[in-house]
Amino acid sequence: MRRISIFGVTGSIGEQTVDLVTRAGGPAAFDTVAVTGGRNVARLAAIARALQAEIAVCADEALLPDLRAALDGSGIEAAAGSAAIAEAADRPADWIMSAIVGAAGLVPGLRALQHGTTLALANKESLVTAGQLLLSTAAEQGARILPVDSEHSAIFQALAAEPMAAVERIILTASGGALRDWPIERLAQATVAEALAHPNWAMGQRITIDSASMFNKALEVIETREYFGVDPDRIEVIIHPESIIHSMVGFRDGALMAHMGAPDMRHSIGYALNWPDRLDLPVRRLDLAQLAQLTFRAPEPGRYPALTLCREVMRLRGLAGAAFNAAKEIALDHFLAGSIGFMDMSGVVEDTLDALSSCPGLEKPVITLEDVLAMDHLARVRAAEAAGRRAKGRG
Ligand code: NAD
Ligand code: MG
Repeated sequence: MRRISIFGVTGSIGEQTVDLVTRAGGPAAFDTVAVTGGRNVARLAAIARALQAEIAVCADEALLPDLRAALDGSGIEAAAGSAAIAEAADRPADWIMSAIVGAAGLVPGLRALQHGTTLALANKESLVTAGQLLLSTAAEQGARILPVDSEHSAIFQALAAEPMAAVERIILTASGGALRDWPIERLAQATVAEALAHPNWAMGQRITIDSASMFNKALEVIETREYFGVDPDRIEVIIHPESIIHSMVGFRDGALMAHMGAPDMRHSIGYALNWPDRLDLPVRRLDLAQLAQLTFRAPEPGRYPALTLCREVMRLRGLAGAAFNAAKEIALDHFLAGSIGFMDMSGVVEDTLDALSSCPGLEKPVITLEDVLAMDHLARVRAAEAAGRRAKGRG
């Protein structure tokens, strides 16, 4: 039986992974080693019991007594804190799902790769902040990274059995997010609730806001550059409001291969879970006659400054991805807290990159985990300062 662990099991991707594992037979089909969550210990314990996991770990150390109580009598170990989450990735497993949100997902995924474990990677921040480190570790250990982000799973599938030399371009599709039809002048006033009203995908709160600002797509462009090793000039973004085409690969003969399906993350989670096989998945089948049409439009740069910023990050490479992601996370925290406006988020990230531009490490070609964590920390400090200035400017 395959041994699996699920990091971020109580989140949107985590729960959908549990859904597929449960439908496959749960403990009768998979041997679950570790499950980890943030603060929702009741749900974490319920999943650990249902999958008969060896250990459940929550991020918040103060909640360890609650987790212990919720697991009482089950024989399942309980632990808490970020070090315990990283240690859970040291437990032997064949496959792990990396679905913690944010930079916190990097260390457990990296630790799993160091043990040669196959990494199903939903946590795009890992590739953005430390792409070269992740890929070199995987290569050294002979470990495989399977992309779970829908766009990257689509590209991965379109590339099956094709040499990268045959690839001319990669086209990432974007829904355009909740505010795509708003007049640009109104965007500065958008509230959290308005930015959360995603038209197609039901996702975690943070990625939903990142979809509206296109910071999510900006991360995905960098993710594409890192994972597939393509030149940034060959990566395009197109707005496709229906979210039926999950992304496309254009080949040198002009052919475009597209992955189509319902907007349901279980397509890519299931592909990574069953890879290299394709098994039945409980996703809606497309009725093309009913869909009738698919539409596309170019993203307007004024609406989505994040898409311009990511080009500069790819030019710099090195630790610029870590700085970009950390600044984006702080900007998002401030937007969620109501202290800065929607368009201030890209302003904070731009200010942070500017403030760090003379930083010697930014273009460092070979990066270590310590480099990444140090840059992550520094960028958070600079971004908080930038956000503070903007908050003052508003108030
Ligand atoms: P989510 O917020 O729904 O869930 C995140 C999970 O991580 C939860 O289990 C939460 O408790 C845990 N967590 C949060 N902070 C933590 C911390 N500091 N330490 C440890 N655990 C922590 O997020 P999500 O939407 O499921 O997204 C997870 C990842 O997958 C993100 O990187 C996101 O970009 C990526 N992703 C998500 C989707 C989607 O449809 N939701 C699609 C593509 C990629
Ligand atoms: Mg995506």
